[in-house]
Amino acid sequence: MENKKRIYSAVQPSGMLTLGNYLGAIRNFPLLQEEYDCLYCVANMHTLTVRQDPELLRERIYALLALYLACGLDPEKNILYLQSQVPAHAELSWVLGCYTYMGELSRMTQFKDKSSRHADNINAGLFTYPVLMAADILLYQTDFVPIGRDQKQHLELARDIAIRFNKLYGDTFKVPEPLISKQGAKIMSLQEPNKKMSKSDENVNNFILITEDPDKIMKKFKKAVTDSDGEIRYDEENKPGVSNLINIYGALKNLSTEEVEKAFSGLRYGDFKTAVGEACVETLTPIRARYEELMADKGYLDGIFKENAVRAGAYAEKTLKDVYAKVGFVL
Ligand code: ATP
Ligand code: MG
Repeated sequence: MENKKRIYSAVQPSGMLTLGNYLGAIRNFPLLQEEYDCLYCVANMHTLTVRQDPELLRERIYALLALYLACGLDPEKNILYLQSQVPAHAELSWVLGCYTYMGELSRMTQFKDKSSRHADNINAGLFTYPVLMAADILLYQTDFVPIGRDQKQHLELARDIAIRFNKLYGDTFKVPEPLISKQGAKIMSLQEPNKKMSKSDENVNNFILITEDPDKIMKKFKKAVTDSDGEIRYDEENKPGVSNLINIYGALKNLSTEEVEKAFSGLRYGDFKTAVGEACVETLTPIRARYEELMADKGYLDGIFKENAVRAGAYAEKTLKDVYAKVGFVL
């Protein structure tokens, strides 16, 4: 990892990954591995902002690595690592927290959204989450961060923090740019198409899992909320359910919105939903098979984590040392 531009991306093992995560993020990753130096983080520390079952969390950590691999990421060309195995994340996060304002953090829509969904547990971690995310990205002198539209605000904050720190202490962090894919950038919930599809959603009918079995996928699409107007036409505002299905189909088949509208014009919603379900099953079936093979060999997955924590740690330590020196710590 020397001369190429660097890409950083993290996914939380807070639930099994959804079609939204796949189309908005992971699917694009293997296309990047030749052109860029890429780090893919299993962001387990972030998951504690919401209560997790320890056994389940451990399983999901492996599952996320297995999914990265099953979706085509090469563990030698990329650094696939576990956040908590690189202590520099927590260390830099503390420092950056002292350069982030309460006002900035309270404007974050994810905080507002998650604190209303978990009103019994509005913890400080939920509030400072974007600071840890800034540390994740800035530790690696990242050029680009591929994200879904939902994370744009957090990335902007990471940029603001980097710029602020650089102004005070001289060039320390590279200021990262977002990479947002157009199609699949925001897949919405199947039952409540006005909110995004999220793996931590309580209602399982709202999302499709990458590892979901074909029958369930078909059922969930058949149940997807549409409208009473009966026309397969893209209109995010008035027809959010149908528009979401058009988006999903287009992303799966690499078709534009217009092409999807044309292909299905005059058809009934039921037939369209079946077609979307089938396209989804077709894409996900080989991924699921590879995922299951990998999950049967935890030793192999542990080996990847171990090696990659060392590789990631080497980059992270370099930035952290620079920061510690600049703020006046004795090294
Ligand atoms: P959680 O509900 O725990 O926040 P999540 O489904 O939002 O889970 P994250 O781990 O927060 O997933 O995000 C992983 C990646 O997937 C990010 O790059 C994010 O932008 C992208 N992503 C998440 N949801 C969607 C979606 N509905 N459509 C497109 N991309 C998405
Ligand atoms: Mg999220």
